[in-house]
Amino acid sequence: MTAGGTPAPIRASEALRKKLAKIGLHSETDLLLHLPLRYEDETRLTPVDRALCGAAVQLEVTVLYSEVQLRPRRQLVARAADASGEITLRFFSFYPSQQALLAEGTRLRVFGEARDGFFGLEMVHPRLRKIAAGDPLPTALTPVYPSTAGVAEATLQKLIAAALAGAELPDTLPDEARRQLQLPGFARSLRFLHAPPADADVDALQARHHPAWQRIKFDEALAQQLSLRRAWLARRQQGAPPLRAQDDLGERLVASLPFGLTGAQARAVAEIGGDLAQPYPMQRLLQGDVGAGKTIVAALAACQAISAGWQAAFMAPTEILAEQHYLKLRAWLEALGVRVAWLTGSLKSKAKREQLAAAAADAQLVVGTHALIQEGVDFARLGLVIVDEQHRFGVAQRLALRKKGDNPHQLMMSATPIPRTLAMSYYADLDVTVLDELPPGRTPVKTRLIAASRRADVVGFVEKHVGEGRQAYWVCPLIEESEALQLQTAEETHAQLSADLPGRRVGLAHGRLKADAKQAVMAAFAAGDIDVLVATTVIEVGVDVPNASLMVIEHAERFGLSQLHQLRGRVGRGAYQSSCVLIYAGPLGEVARRRLKIIFENNDGFEIARQDLHLRGPGEFVGARQSGVPLLRYADLEEDAALVEQARAVAEDMLTAHPALAEAHLRRWLGAREELLKS
Ligand code: ADP
Ligand code: MG
Repeated sequence: MTAGGTPAPIRASEALRKKLAKIGLHSETDLLLHLPLRYEDETRLTPVDRALCGAAVQLEVTVLYSEVQLRPRRQLVARAADASGEITLRFFSFYPSQQALLAEGTRLRVFGEARDGFFGLEMVHPRLRKIAAGDPLPTALTPVYPSTAGVAEATLQKLIAAALAGAELPDTLPDEARRQLQLPGFARSLRFLHAPPADADVDALQARHHPAWQRIKFDEALAQQLSLRRAWLARRQQGAPPLRAQDDLGERLVASLPFGLTGAQARAVAEIGGDLAQPYPMQRLLQGDVGAGKTIVAALAACQAISAGWQAAFMAPTEILAEQHYLKLRAWLEALGVRVAWLTGSLKSKAKREQLAAAAADAQLVVGTHALIQEGVDFARLGLVIVDEQHRFGVAQRLALRKKGDNPHQLMMSATPIPRTLAMSYYADLDVTVLDELPPGRTPVKTRLIAASRRADVVGFVEKHVGEGRQAYWVCPLIEESEALQLQTAEETHAQLSADLPGRRVGLAHGRLKADAKQAVMAAFAAGDIDVLVATTVIEVGVDVPNASLMVIEHAERFGLSQLHQLRGRVGRGAYQSSCVLIYAGPLGEVARRRLKIIFENNDGFEIARQDLHLRGPGEFVGARQSGVPLLRYADLEEDAALVEQARAVAEDMLTAHPALAEAHLRRWLGAREELLKS
């Protein structure tokens, strides 16, 4: 590990270096931080007659004879013995070198799991090590490293041992933090993990609970937090227009609402308002469960920008959602004299041209889909960018919208709640505001699980519901393999339900409808002119029809948990008791059963997300893959949440109080990857 500059490359042949690069090993430092998956105990010997114990053991034997047998298939078979008994060693594939090792009379240490074979005690493919009588046993456990094709475990062991021998390993954690957190030293921890003594607590090592592991995991989390924190600070160095309200537009909007803001909304508005007034760009994530009321918070942020003489852009991932926002924002704001424009990809060209011109010229708020980020859309004075359902957009798309202005402030919104630890890892360079309170008067949605065989009962339930003047959604199964098939299913379901519910108005909305047709269906449903809306997942986000209080989802087992939660959030928006019926087709696999149980038992999106994370692991979690932040290798976001929290606190302090240590720490852990993270 060098003191500074570029990290020292691995001392190995070009061919080997290429292979190592495939598993992320580029430098000597990378080797040092490549930690064992597990250990093998070669520090002691087991007598042959006690080898059969269900675990890998080491024997010390002398070869009696060996031969290559051709039947039933070609194999190398040896017979070997110690004072206590004899054992067969069997190889179905082998090298001449192994054959040579098994020459009669050779003294060997063999490592492997013994079994009771057809011809008595045997080991298949044991590891062989030639020794002389009296050779000492190793005093440390043997590390087993994650490797890759073409790199022998022994090669990796040697490379890492050599790197370790010459390494200085200075500690990069400030002393007081180390004492306070009661973590062992870095060098000691690292050396221990690569070569634990024979009497080490192997279970604690394997489970990564050992203090040495705690230290390494902490350091890894610290590097991640330092990097994110630094990006956050760097952003503060950039200038942005301070948006201070010049009139009472916001107050007038609040006064015109039929409801008062919840405490959480008021806090969010204040927090965002404070950010907007700063001379550097806000980058804030507004998180809130489905129905928490994020739109009005965003609208009030837009009011502040507009009142300050700047434009705001509001981008949503789907046309339906963008349009809903447009209609709602226009209803709220036009009455107050705000010019609201609308922009999507499907606008007829002339209308589109006008809208584009308006966006560039004098609209104060522009609402739209990703059409907003296309070329040819020019904003005159873009001060605030709002992105709804931000996890549905890629990094590049969010960046493109930001580039439409000169460092505009950014407000991102997400209804997919992200557990705190995950948020800390993926969004630590964002400021996060959580709407942790639902507007009053919401009735919790009753969830039922019903087998597909009882579909007729569900239809009866819908009939009764509609008879009471309510409306219902019927969501068709997700068919990932084929959009055509999904469409066909939706059409069939529509025909079937129309027949099952005579006299009821059954509508159909799916992704393939032309924009104006889709718009017409959604408008009719919102106006109460449709009783039952058959839909594909196009209604997943944002649709807001308070009189709809029944949600039926077919083949619920095919949906993701957050998707089910979002869909269920479409109901329970009015004063009526709302229900969500999840129809599942059996037999359910274990995971499907557990997922449905989670959604059945929980109404809180954060809790659902937490359990989902537990079930799936963070890698698959929303947006994670796009975030550009590499996953932690050693620390586990769930299990090591406390460590990540501590790392976050230390990172904040370290950047100002110990910048040199922070620098060294980042170099050690992120090396060249640090650059990647900044982009
Ligand atoms: P989401 O957070 O899912 O985007 P919305 O902004 O769509 O939620 O709000 C859901 C519904 O709740 C809308 O009909 C909205 O007008 C209403 N709403 C928002 N805030 C309040 C409030 N403080 N009191 C009552 N209703 C509210
Ligand atoms: Mg919303």
